[in-house]
Amino acid sequence: MELLKRRIEKDGRVISSEVVKVDSFLNHQIDPQLLFEMGKEFHRLFADKPITKILTIEASGIALGVMTGLSIGVPMVFAKKVASRNLDKETYLTKVHSFTKQIDYDIQLSKRYLNADDHVLIVDDFLANGQACLGLIDIIEQAGATLEGVGIAIEKEFQPGGKLIRDRGIKVESLAIIEAFVDGKVKFK
Ligand code: 5GP
Repeated sequence: MELLKRRIEKDGRVISSEVVKVDSFLNHQIDPQLLFEMGKEFHRLFADKPITKILTIEASGIALGVMTGLSIGVPMVFAKKVASRNLDKETYLTKVHSFTKQIDYDIQLSKRYLNADDHVLIVDDFLANGQACLGLIDIIEQAGATLEGVGIAIEKEFQPGGKLIRDRGIKVESLAIIEAFVDGKVKFK
């Protein structure tokens, strides 16, 4: 998606060999118009799928998830990060390894908001090692719901997440795919 790529070039800040900060428009301060266009693009890319729900993880997936839900016309639900495992029978629970913080954390989702009738589109801001996405897939499996695909704002192709998810036969659509960081600049595929 050209609009997103141009914005990453303009406002993204490469802060290490693996991380680009986009917090002026995507995941801290939010540009609603840009994210609305991204939501519409996911709608177009997954128009052939009978999606009933958008699923993401707090906090950085929520804004994009809402805009995608708005475009497709379905609810968005987000997995919550919890400090420790509780034994609440009313929630799905799984463990995720954080790429940015290098720690494990638990995520949970109320059983009220995802069930076997749901057809789910996962949405997230980044795809790096794929751990956040795998956690969401585990929750979908616990619910007996159907995963229809994964929509990502920014995929870093030099990290293994994209291959990991696609190798499971899952449709993954990324609006901007970064091949590498060269001299502190983003090189798109
Ligand atoms: P993964 O689970 O695929 O390894 O990482 C996905 C999560 O890590 C995303 O939800 C995102 O919050 C964070 N993340 C991964 N790479 C980056 C990055 O380059 N920049 C920022 N800002 N967050 C990232």
